[in-house]
Amino acid sequence: MADWWHEKSLKELSAVQWEALCDGCAKCCLHKLEDEDTGEIVYTKVRCRYLEENTCQCSDYQNRSMLVPNCIDLRLANLDTLNWLPSTCAYRLRAQDLPLPEWHPLVSGNRDSVHRAGISVRGRAVSDEYVHSDGYDEHIVHWIE
Ligand code: SF4
Ligand code: SF4
Repeated sequence: MADWWHEKSLKELSAVQWEALCDGCAKCCLHKLEDEDTGEIVYTKVRCRYLEENTCQCSDYQNRSMLVPNCIDLRLANLDTLNWLPSTCAYRLRAQDLPLPEWHPLVSGNRDSVHRAGISVRGRAVSDEYVHSDGYDEHIVHWIE
């Protein structure tokens, strides 16, 4: 099926299509901070230690929820609560019935296009193995909306 990612709703995707919809940016594998008063969520450049930063792939995807309890399986999440994801996230875009951008691997036909477009975290994150959780606020970044 041509452009199934635009023709189907998220709920209609097969398991394989669901996985293929992820653009591989790995922004969701960065630690986030929430303002207690306003509820605003800001991203830090501190990444989960299980993320392979060069490929932006999880090193233990099958066991991720066990290894990192707050690593959410988006397929089980309430789609109305996806606003903590970056605005570029393909699941968030499709939940709003918006088209995928031209750098999305499904559109470009190349898994590397998300990195070449400067959308992924490749080369600009630091592992949480090296940052104390009390110090995450020193690593807040503004390149994620
Ligand atoms: S932010 Fe969305 S598109 Fe990017 S890696 Fe995470 S789930 Fe995939
Ligand atoms: S366990 Fe894997 S998918 Fe989950 S946050 Fe860490 S690197 Fe990302």
